[in-house]
Amino acid sequence: MIFSNQLEVLIISEINKNGENSINTNRKNPYNICIWKDVSTCNDCSIKGELQCHEDFRYSIWFASGFIFGFIPAILGIFLGFFSESLNLPLFIISLGGWILYLVIFFIIWEPRMLCSHCPYYAEGEAKVVHCYANHGIPKTTSFNPAPMSRSEKIQFIIGLLIFFGYPIPFLIIAEQFVLLLISMIGVIFWILILQLKICPDCVNFSCPLNRVPKNILVSFIKHNPIMKEAWEKSGYRFE
Ligand code: SF4
Ligand code: SF4
Repeated sequence: MIFSNQLEVLIISEINKNGENSINTNRKNPYNICIWKDVSTCNDCSIKGELQCHEDFRYSIWFASGFIFGFIPAILGIFLGFFSESLNLPLFIISLGGWILYLVIFFIIWEPRMLCSHCPYYAEGEAKVVHCYANHGIPKTTSFNPAPMSRSEKIQFIIGLLIFFGYPIPFLIIAEQFVLLLISMIGVIFWILILQLKICPDCVNFSCPLNRVPKNILVSFIKHNPIMKEAWEKSGYRFE
């Protein structure tokens, strides 16, 4: 976190040295991103209400439903496999411990770099943790990058998700917990549907491969935020 803050200071000073003025010295909103301005500045916005641009508890509930429908059955299946002795102790530790370890690495190190660093929610200055509907409270371990995700980052994100969902499957098969495996898989599919129908059409991380915001709204948002517009144009995105 300290590294992240130091890097942010360096970025700010470097950009200022280069004479670009789309970044400011407001420590709370160094990239001048509209979602971190006072909400009164949204009154005249043509896309007000079209995006999830301020934290909204409803999105957190939809997001958390994946844990309830997709992951609790899988965790239950691993425990049942252990208590029924289909999974021995080393396999139990590898299944649950390995999955938890992967999730910690994914959420704290990998996902911030490939996905969250490109999200306007990550541009909040001075904050040591993320304040967004999905990862609220997760430590900030990298700096905001106003450019869109690269192709490599998109591929990494898909691979990361596949490991995330797929990790418990072999252990549930070894544990012969086929009903819970099926419930878990249906739960994950249900969760992806919720994401695609309720969250991704409003999400401000526009370059995420799951994002479904219409282009006209994306363009309006980016035009509100000059540092993002410049970075997107430099990466080859055309707004017209
Ligand atoms: S896009 Fe920006 S300016 Fe418009 S409502 Fe959302 S936060 Fe406010
Ligand atoms: S909204 Fe999504 S992409 Fe943005 S910081 Fe939160 S978890 Fe990351």
